[in-house]
Order: sequence, then structure tokens, then C-alpha cells
Amino acid sequence: MEPAALIDSFGRKITSLRISITGQCNLNCFYCHNEGQSGHESQMSSGHLVNIIKTASKLGVTKVKFSGGEPLMRQDFEDVLVAIPKFRDVSATTNGVMLAKRAVSLKSAGLDRVNVSLDTLQPQTYASICRCNKDIHSMVLDGIHSAVNAGLTPVKLNMVMLKGINENELEDMMSFVRLFNGDVILQIIEPMDFGNYGGKVNMDAIEKDLGSRASEMIERKMHRRRKYLIDGAEVEVVRPIDNSRFCANCSRLRVTADGKLKPCLLVNDNLVDTVSAGIHELETLFYKAVNLREPFYKG
Ligand code: SAM
Repeated sequence: MEPAALIDSFGRKITSLRISITGQCNLNCFYCHNEGQSGHESQMSSGHLVNIIKTASKLGVTKVKFSGGEPLMRQDFEDVLVAIPKFRDVSATTNGVMLAKRAVSLKSAGLDRVNVSLDTLQPQTYASICRCNKDIHSMVLDGIHSAVNAGLTPVKLNMVMLKGINENELEDMMSFVRLFNGDVILQIIEPMDFGNYGGKVNMDAIEKDLGSRASEMIERKMHRRRKYLIDGAEVEVVRPIDNSRFCANCSRLRVTADGKLKPCLLVNDNLVDTVSAGIHELETLFYKAVNLREPFYKG
């Protein structure tokens, strides 16, 4: 008999899993929300990771996104990709620093596409945001080119809009994206305030400007994301804050690096620990976590 679908008490079906595979990161971005974790969690074994993902597949999840920390800090990432079942979409979000060397092996192991975090095209600004050496910036650009060449496309560039820091770089970013003829999409993200983000950007003004210039605008159901097409550059806007439609359409369950199912990015007191569970107990824990889901912003 088919197991029951994962549907929470607000009628939201879970079709997507966002799994942090390590708390460790090689950058230290000042605004980072760390996927709602401390970043010092212990790390699940690859066997447990695979069991969680197999369970998600059995229960109707069709999309998996790997995150962290920095997922490429895990040398066994490719082994995990090889061991998991087939999904409609397998992606990772990475800072891209180590992507140039791994793009081909990740693609061959089964990764479909990547998001690369790139807030700026200016090496010095990059260094001050990510609190690293400015030479790292060119490694990220190499990573983006390698990802495109390896077919990890479309590559989405995650640009968190930071007040007074990169707000003036939107045009340059769009020009950069155009160089890749559709293989790279710009995703601009409203920063979430985890106590460290440096102030509100005027996302309404940004969207209004994009809207007035776009030849086409599409609204995705997932999280009410809008996509604008401007002279060949595709720009997607992610606005999670105070967005009840973002929550109403949320189809995502999260997993922390230490193996806890996390019903919502913004809530930390309802995590469901799976680490000592074998594959047969995991299903029950998935249903338990899904039952704990509530929209953070209610309409
Ligand atoms: N290290 C990986 C990376 O750079 O993609 C994965 C983890 S990182 C937390 C995942 C994404 O979250 C990045 O694109 C980052 O820009 C975004 N992010 C981090 N803190 C954020 C915040 N306060 N508001 C909005 N997005 C944030």
C-alpha cells in the first residue's frame, strides 16, 4: 500500500526537502542566518543522510536541495548523491568557492543544478560581506563558469540585497547574467533579520522598477516568487518577510545538519530528532514533523 502523502494541518503538501549536510562553512558572511541553526551542530553520517532522503522520496517529496554551512565542505557529497533515489529536481546552494574543482563530479553523481551565493561583483565588497580575502571572489566566478560548463544549469545566483552595500549593483549583476545566454538566473533575496543584517532594503521600489522594465513577469506559486525578464536577463525576487502567501504555499520541510526535521526556518522549538532512528522509524518521524508545521506569517 502507498504511504499517505505528507500534508500538514493547513493543507500544505510537502514536496520539497531542504537538507543541511554540514554546519561548517569556509566563509563568514555577516548577515548569515545559518539556515536557522547555530552552525556548531555535529554532522550526520552519510548513511543517515541517505536514509532521510530515501524516506522523503517514499513519502512523495520530489525536490531535494542540499545546503549547509557550505555543502562542498563535505567530501562525501558525491557519494550521497550517487546513493539517493531519483528526484524531479536535485540542487544545492553553495558559496561556489570550491565549485570549480567539483562541478563535473557533482553533475556526474546526479546533481541537476546549483544556486551560487554572489552578492557583489566587486572583490573588495565581497571580502567585507563574507569576511574573507578578496581573492576568493575570483574563485567563485570560476565556480560559476565551471557549473555552467558542467551543465549544472540553470545556475541561480543568490544575491541578498544589503542596504548601502550592494543595492547599486543590480544593473551590473543583470549584465553579468546576460553573458550566459539564459544558463544563469539572478535571484535577488530580501534579507531576513537574524539580528545581524544591517537594515531594511526597499524591495517594493526594486520590484516596481523591475516591473516597469520587464517584457514579461511570471509569478511562481511556491513562496509567491516573481520572475521578471529584462532584456534577456531573468531576475527572480524572493521576499519571505511578512509574506503570508510565502508561508501559505510553503511545501518545504527542512533537515538540520545534525539530523533534526525542522518544520520552519523561523521556528526552533519544534525540531524532531531522527539521529538514532533507523530507516523504518523515519517515516513516523516525518509525519510527526509535518503535523507540527504552521505558517509563520498567517494571512
Ligand atoms: N553556504 C551555502 C551558500 O552560500 O549558498 C549554503 C548556506 S547559505 C545559509 C544559503 C543561502 O542563504 C545563501 O544564498 C545566503 O545568501 C542566504 N542567506 C543567508 N543569510 C540570509 C539572510 N539573513 N537573509 C536572506 N538570505 C540569507
